[in-house]
Amino acid sequence: MTDVINTFEELELRPELTRALTNMGFTQPTPIQQRAIWPLLEGRDVIAKAPTGTGKTCSFGIPLLECFRPDCNDIQGIVICPTRELCIQIADDLRSLGAYMPQVRIVALYGGQPINKQIAALQKHPHIVVATPGRLIDHMNRGNVWLGNVYTAVLDEADEMLKMGFIKDVRKILNATPQDTQVALFSATISREVMNVAWEYQRDAVEITVEAQGDQRPDIAQYALPAVGGDRLDALHTLLGTVDLHRVMVFANRKVTVQWLCNQLKRRGCSVDCLHGDIPQSQRNRVMEGFRKGKFEVLVCTDVAARGIDVDDVEAVFNYDIPDENEYYLHRIGRTGRAKRHGMAITFVSPDDGFRMRDIKKYTHSDIIDITLDETGKPVCADGTSFA
Ligand code: ADP
Ligand code: MG
Repeated sequence: MTDVINTFEELELRPELTRALTNMGFTQPTPIQQRAIWPLLEGRDVIAKAPTGTGKTCSFGIPLLECFRPDCNDIQGIVICPTRELCIQIADDLRSLGAYMPQVRIVALYGGQPINKQIAALQKHPHIVVATPGRLIDHMNRGNVWLGNVYTAVLDEADEMLKMGFIKDVRKILNATPQDTQVALFSATISREVMNVAWEYQRDAVEITVEAQGDQRPDIAQYALPAVGGDRLDALHTLLGTVDLHRVMVFANRKVTVQWLCNQLKRRGCSVDCLHGDIPQSQRNRVMEGFRKGKFEVLVCTDVAARGIDVDDVEAVFNYDIPDENEYYLHRIGRTGRAKRHGMAITFVSPDDGFRMRDIKKYTHSDIIDITLDETGKPVCADGTSFA
């Protein structure tokens, strides 16, 4: 076991960083932060397994900023992550952490944004680069980035990234960093692919596992509502009104369903927008930001488009479709009940979905309560308990 810290003060961080943490309202390190920050500050490799919403970003973000060297104008740290959304999110979080360190330059490199804009940003010599693998490789091939002085490489959501087939790119990136670069792997699951990267690129890594249990287990009331086909749209529309929800994410399995559902809800007067793979990047950024700022109430999205989206006060998550993978169920409902708030997840189930629901319950150890809607459209729990 390595040192576990209980407070941020123990780390004796630079005052600018302490101030930023205070400003962000972070008074206590989360369990992953308690265990990952110190070894990273010491320069050790870390492989950390922690579920979504446990505070992984600061676990590597704090060490990245604390170890910033003002005398070096090369890229000092890289963070590789699977999606553009996550890339933007992480860069935003790092900028919040670096709010009082104006000398630190952070750039996000992801596909879909004009490359010239990124080239211009790279010409200003960023210190920290947050990137999706494909776009970073693109810049490497064009000679726009040099990783020869990187001292920390972070792979965030490593399992997802490797699952998406980025292994070759990831290896190419890591191979371009110095031999002794510190490598930090953060992942919700430690898959075989993640282990392979760890074996190849880490030395004597500190292994950290944080379970989604006890205190960390988010407070999410989970419900299942029988509804088939188009009835789901009616039920969703009804619930948005009767439960008085104003910040909601709705998940569907396919892009066409997402777009259709968004159009239908709009037609019914809902304040809604959507995210899926066919939406151009510039528009996606606008949608993400609009949702974060509360410019509309309902975000309909696919799993991939929603990865890494981090909005703290999502009141409810709806599963318009049951997710194909059990893990997705957890990822989806993990969008609510964050930052110690009470959350709610409602899954629409058809009679054919019984097996899938049992599987999800078993896999996630979730207590999912059956509900129906009364004549006024208010949800009623089948087991007699009161709704949320
Ligand atoms: P993960 O990457 O593990 O899914 P994030 O790093 O995105 O988790 O953090 C999840 C949420 O918790 C974010 O809203 C973040 O602002 C918040 N958070 C992170 N660290 C702390 C902390 N020490 N105290 C309070 N909230 C925190
Ligand atoms: Mg994260």
